[in-house]
Amino acid sequence: MGSNIGNRLEHLIQAVRLLHEHAAINVKNVSSVYETEPVGLTEQAKFLNIAVELETSLEATELLSACQFIENKLGRMRKIRWGPRTVDLDILLYNNDQIQLEHLIIPHLRMAERAFVLVPLVEINPELKNPVSGELYRQQPALKEEGIVLWKKVACVEEFLQPN
Ligand code: ATP
Ligand code: CA
Ligand code: CA
Repeated sequence: MGSNIGNRLEHLIQAVRLLHEHAAINVKNVSSVYETEPVGLTEQAKFLNIAVELETSLEATELLSACQFIENKLGRMRKIRWGPRTVDLDILLYNNDQIQLEHLIIPHLRMAERAFVLVPLVEINPELKNPVSGELYRQQPALKEEGIVLWKKVACVEEFLQPN
């Protein structure tokens, strides 16, 4: 997940809360919050990014719909590709599956080159492997890129969702 507009942390908390409230989704784990430099379109505000581990009975396509519902609910406007957003929810992995649909590709196509994805992902589970290549995500060269700063340490889901 990422957010770079308004109260970024609040947007991430709301998104995790909405996932958790979904009857078919159980939020298992949340990474720490990282502040990251925007990539692609670099003339925009910094992002806060987290990775989230879920357990769900939803199919991957249904999970994508649930994510898009949450993006819309939190006021995301789809204007500029890779542009600013209140919240962006991408599905990185789904079990060990490889999915290639027109509107859903898993593993996420660009995740292995993005430090802002790899750092929180590897924090949640250092043993995760790319289901296509078998490579460990913690051994991806992109993990070492600069511009990823630990912004808020998070120990568990309950702590993350707690109002301050
Ligand atoms: P990027 O995909 O590079 O992170 P983005 O998140 O800004 O870019 P969006 O505008 O949020 O891109 O999404 C564009 C489309 O990507 C969505 O409509 C969705 O159908 C598609 N998509 C394909 N694979 C995935 C995935 N694994 N998770 C989320 N969306 C996906
Ligand atoms: Ca994205
Ligand atoms: Ca997206």
